[in-house]
Amino acid sequence: MKLTFPHMGNTYITAKVLLDDLGVDYTIPPFNNKKGLELGTKYAPESACLPLKINIGNYIQAYEQGADTILITGGCGPCRFGYYCEMHRSILRDIGYEMDVIALELPNGDFREFIRRIRKLAGGFDLVKLIRAMKNATQIAKRVDDMEKLCFKIRPREVSKGSTDRIYKGFQLKAQNCTGSCEMKKLIQETWDELLEVETDKHFKPMKVGIVGEIYTTIDSNTNFHIESILGNMGIEVDREVTVSGWIIEHMLKNALHLPRDLRYVEAAKPYLGTMIGGHAQETIGNTVLYAKDGYNGIIQIYPLTCMPEIVADSILPAVQRDMDIPILTLILDEMTGEAGYLTRVEAFVDLLNKRRGMTVI
Ligand code: SF4
Repeated sequence: MKLTFPHMGNTYITAKVLLDDLGVDYTIPPFNNKKGLELGTKYAPESACLPLKINIGNYIQAYEQGADTILITGGCGPCRFGYYCEMHRSILRDIGYEMDVIALELPNGDFREFIRRIRKLAGGFDLVKLIRAMKNATQIAKRVDDMEKLCFKIRPREVSKGSTDRIYKGFQLKAQNCTGSCEMKKLIQETWDELLEVETDKHFKPMKVGIVGEIYTTIDSNTNFHIESILGNMGIEVDREVTVSGWIIEHMLKNALHLPRDLRYVEAAKPYLGTMIGGHAQETIGNTVLYAKDGYNGIIQIYPLTCMPEIVADSILPAVQRDMDIPILTLILDEMTGEAGYLTRVEAFVDLLNKRRGMTVI
C-alpha cells in the first residue's frame, strides 16, 4: 500500500509526520498547480466545488507517482463535504484509477470502525505508537500555524521587502525532505529563529484585515493567489482564525473526546446565523463580528463558486457590514478565476481602507 493525501495549505506537513512516525509508505502529490487543476476540472462534475476538483487533480498526479490509497479527513453535515469520500471514489473508478479511499473520522461515532480504518492505515494497531504519532502531528500542526501567524505580523513591518516570504517559502520546501516529527520540530524551530532575525520597523502601525470564508480557499495559498502574502507586502497585517490545527483540535479531537470547544464565534454569530449550516459559514459570520469588535480595518471573505454555506454567509455579511461599520470584500474562486482581475479587486479594496483610515483618527 502506498498512501497519498490531498493538499490544503500546510496539511501535507501534518500528514507527512503522522505517516513517517507510523512507518507508512506514502507519496506527496506536487503542490497545487495549473496542471492538477486542469485534470481535476476535466473529470469532476462542472458544478462541483473547487476543492473537490483540486483534490481529484492531486490524486491523479499522486497515482502517477505510485499511490494506490488516499487518506482524507471525512465530514458529515449539510454541505457537500459529507459526500467527498464517495465522490472521490466514484470519479476515480469511472476514469480507471483504482484507488482505495480511507476517511479518517469517527463514522457516526462508531469507534470500532475508526479503529478498523486506523489498522488498515498502519498495517496493525499499536495504541501507544498511534497516540504518540497523533500527538506529535497535532503539535506540529499547531507550531506551523503559529509560525504562519508570526509571518502575518512580520511581513508588513519588514524593512527589506520579501524577507519573510523567502524564509517561509524555504521552510515549505525543506519540510518536504524532513523525515519524522523530530526532524520537523527542529526545522520549525530553526525557521522560527530565522524569522525573528528579520529586521522590522517597530514604529509602523499597519492596517489589519481579517480573512474569513471557506476553509480550503482561505488556507491554501496556491489557490487564493497568496492573498496573505500580497496583503502583507502591501503593509497590511492579516489574521485568519480558521487553521489546520484548529480543525484538528477543535473539530476532530475535542469532538471525539467530548471536550468543551472554543465557541466564541458561535456566540458572536448568533444574532445573524444561529445554527450550523455546514462548512464554516458560522465561523465566517462570527469571526467577522469578532474582528470588527477588535478594531480591524476590513474583512476579506473567500470561497469557491457554488459553496453552499458561504453563499448563505455572503448574503448575511452586508447586515454585519452595516451594523459593525466595517468594509467587507468577497472573493469567489473557481478554475476560471484570472489572477489580474483578482488582484485589481484586492488593490481597490486596500485603497478604500487607506482612504477610510485617512478619515479616521487613530
Ligand atoms: S464547504 Fe463549500 S467548498 Fe467545502 S465542501 Fe462544502 S460546499 Fe464544497
